[in-house]
Amino acid sequence: MEDIKNYTIQKLQSVLEENEFAPFCAQQIFGWVYKRRIENFDSMTDISQKARSVLKGAFYFSNLKLAKREVSCDGTEKFLFGLNDRNCIETVLIPQQARTTLCLSTQVGCKFGCVFCLSGKAGFRRNLTASEIINQYLHVQGLIGACKITNIVFMGIGEPLDNFFHTVNAVKIFTEPKGIHFGRRRICISTCGLTPQIEKLEKLNLGVKLSISLHSPDNRIRSELVPINKKYPLQELIRAVKHFHKTQRYPVTFEYALIGGLNTKKEDALALAKLLKGLKYKINLIPLNRMNSRFQVPSGVEIRDFQRELEKRGVFSTLRKSRGQDINAACGQLRAYAGCKRG
Ligand code: SAH
Repeated sequence: MEDIKNYTIQKLQSVLEENEFAPFCAQQIFGWVYKRRIENFDSMTDISQKARSVLKGAFYFSNLKLAKREVSCDGTEKFLFGLNDRNCIETVLIPQQARTTLCLSTQVGCKFGCVFCLSGKAGFRRNLTASEIINQYLHVQGLIGACKITNIVFMGIGEPLDNFFHTVNAVKIFTEPKGIHFGRRRICISTCGLTPQIEKLEKLNLGVKLSISLHSPDNRIRSELVPINKKYPLQELIRAVKHFHKTQRYPVTFEYALIGGLNTKKEDALALAKLLKGLKYKINLIPLNRMNSRFQVPSGVEIRDFQRELEKRGVFSTLRKSRGQDINAACGQLRAYAGCKRG
């Protein structure tokens, strides 16, 4: 049996055609599953009996089990979900004024070992399937009812571009007009800088936004913070991002965790402005969420001075308020768990 939520509409169409059913049946199924939220073929009354019985024998509907739901004093919510193999992942919901952002995980654990991030501390276990990514959204949207999720960010546990196939399929399912029909520009994929995958993503022309976890304009410091930089150094990364930007025509976002005394100097602001010259971009400054004693949280003055230095060079940045720290839901605080109990 196959998990139907791993199927893009195109793939479902070709399976139906192989079985000599009309391809538009896939559109009907998408309508039932993703618009009407029906997970039972018998209820899909506009589909022929014969097709329904074939579908019942071929597909099942997967679900995540909610193991824990925590609410922060700032309204941020963290969901701990149990997967079928007893692994667990976390998903975060961030309500702001006009938007409600869902932060999705794409892997159980992470391979990339960014030194200030907890998500990879217990190592990497496995990729999530497209259905496990989609189910995070469906489950949370089901729980919050009338309040609509307006933005999706692939910024939870894991590296989305290292799980390229399932991440791309999840995006295709999210944006499918016959199903959820989520706006492409309201989806953002964040990466620690996998240059070849950025190039691959660009060729697919999905129309989603790209965010780069940059953290330093200096190769030596960046390699220390984000070890994958040794393999794909800054110049190569920025070249790929510029190319992406040229074809996708949408500003790229750079995430920049401000670390006290390390990447907040005047020279860093200067080097950053120089590195990103010629690009249309936004910079999100995120004061470090402290994980260990190795790195310092920046002072208020340090943050303000860095932002001013950037401004002087025509670089405008937004300072991201850390959300959900009290429930360990902020950037870098999400973890994957093994052997977690489902439900
Ligand atoms: N692997 C992807 C998706 C994770 S996004 C990526 O690296 O982009 C999570 C974001 O939080 C990344 O920008 C990451 O660098 C940042 N982050 C991790 N730990 C942090 C911390 N302790 N303080 C602030 N930001 C952190």
